[in-house]
Amino acid sequence: MRLRNIPYAYQKLTEFPDVVIQNPIDFKGLWAEKIFGNKNGIHVEIGAGRGKFIINSAMQNPGLNFIGIEKFDSVLVRALKKNVDKKLTNLRFIKIDAQKINDCFAKNEIEKIYLNFSDPWSKTVYEKRRLTSRIFLEKYKKILAGNGILQFKTDNVGLFEFSVKEFNNFGLRIDEIRLDLHNSEPSWNIRSEYEEKFAESEKKIFFIIVNFGGKK
Ligand code: SAM
Repeated sequence: MRLRNIPYAYQKLTEFPDVVIQNPIDFKGLWAEKIFGNKNGIHVEIGAGRGKFIINSAMQNPGLNFIGIEKFDSVLVRALKKNVDKKLTNLRFIKIDAQKINDCFAKNEIEKIYLNFSDPWSKTVYEKRRLTSRIFLEKYKKILAGNGILQFKTDNVGLFEFSVKEFNNFGLRIDEIRLDLHNSEPSWNIRSEYEEKFAESEKKIFFIIVNFGGKK
């Protein structure tokens, strides 16, 4: 996501202490008890961008908890500005690189992970950086509950093909797959910011849900 840098974005994040968790590592294994104060399932979006998807998800699902992960201060500040009046008690944001996700969450702590329009890192030399690569699947496995799921959307056919192969090689079960999500779009679909943009250009959206409970 290319964005103008926001000066002092890091300091701006501290203006939202109830929403941005500054020291997420301290809450590893404690998100339900110390942050949300309930045992509702915790869903995480990695690469939340300006937050449209995660904010709408939290609004529509008050019985679940949501955490948006974003690696850039400037992007996250925009998500917070969008969220500021909503006062959602079931939503938090953290500013980390997903590489460090295992420092923030414990075994079985997360029910579902969303990857919406993740950066494709098209050159093969960068394939380890793709958020659907085996390296990241290993990390997700360590924090997802037994039947935890990963939901992935992209407009990038190359990234989709790579991801399906990685999921298969990792032994994940495919629960749902769509090669054109917006053709008969399901009522439960919540669009992200990028998704809206691609819908206008009539680009096909690829969609898959995989289950870490393994193949049947
Ligand atoms: N999910 C949003 C959407 O669909 O509108 C934003 C998509 S944007 C193409 C990808 C976002 O993921 C960017 O905001 C980027 O900074 C973030 N991102 C990329 N790699 C990341 C990583 N390793 N950890 C955390 N965030 C990451």
